[in-house]
Amino acid sequence: DPVFTMKGVTKVYDTGGAKVHALAGVDLELPGGELAVLLGPSGSGKSTLLNILGGLDHVTDGRVWFRDLELTAMRDRELTRYRRDHVGFIFQFYNLVPSLTARENVQLVTDVARDPMPAAEALELVGLGHRMDHFPAEMSGGEQQRVAIARAIAKRPGVLLCDEPTGALDSKTGIQVLEALHQINRDFGTATVVITHNADIQKIAHRVIFFQDGRISRIQENTERLAPA
Ligand code: ADP
Ligand code: ADP
Repeated sequence: DPVFTMKGVTKVYDTGGAKVHALAGVDLELPGGELAVLLGPSGSGKSTLLNILGGLDHVTDGRVWFRDLELTAMRDRELTRYRRDHVGFIFQFYNLVPSLTARENVQLVTDVARDPMPAAEALELVGLGHRMDHFPAEMSGGEQQRVAIARAIAKRPGVLLCDEPTGALDSKTGIQVLEALHQINRDFGTATVVITHNADIQKIAHRVIFFQDGRISRIQENTERLAPA
């Protein structure tokens, strides 16, 4: 069954007279359990689509489902609950609270989640069992991003939405982040949608979805998928 279904999705931004068609009639079915990469030039609509899937933004027209929940029929309160219960977000910048340790940053989420795993378990999953009591400033960029991943997965979300998760990292630390995402997708079957220019992540994706001018121009199934070393 698809994890996300989009039918005729349009998003128009109206910035004082000038209308921008960020999405211009998108139909999409994303199979469950997959890691999908969104690729395309800047301004082609990738972030807009990710924000709609994450319940952070409304469509102008069309319909969107997460499994059998229709996001486009939800009020803001229900969308907030949807995000809290089902969605893990990972962004380019880690947004950790500097005055809290790695464990405490993850606990911010596990304290309010419906069925969380212990913060320590989430940190161990991303290879940071030995860094739990460190503060963000005491960790490398790759470690901080893995704390952000631990925070995102600790509530056992159905889906992980990642916007340039390795954008601020060099290629070596980017690989640690890639490996964490790959392992979570493989071991938990967490559907993962990633906006990334990182060629290594594209290699482990089940499919790559190409955007052009607010439309999906092509979907490439990755039959020669590589498992990371
Ligand atoms: P991408 O992620 O592929 O770079 P975006 O989804 O960010 O593309 O943007 C698609 C289009 O929508 C761009 O033309 C962008 O300028 C416009 N856009 C995105 N967000 C807003 C906004 N909040 N207000 C106005 N225009 C926006
Ligand atoms: P609440 O009313 O419970 O504080 P929010 O709307 O602040 O709800 O967010 C609920 C969840 O959605 C958060 O735990 C967070 O994971 C995610 N979320 C919402 N907005 C953002 C955002 N702009 N950046 C990152 N995560 C967000």
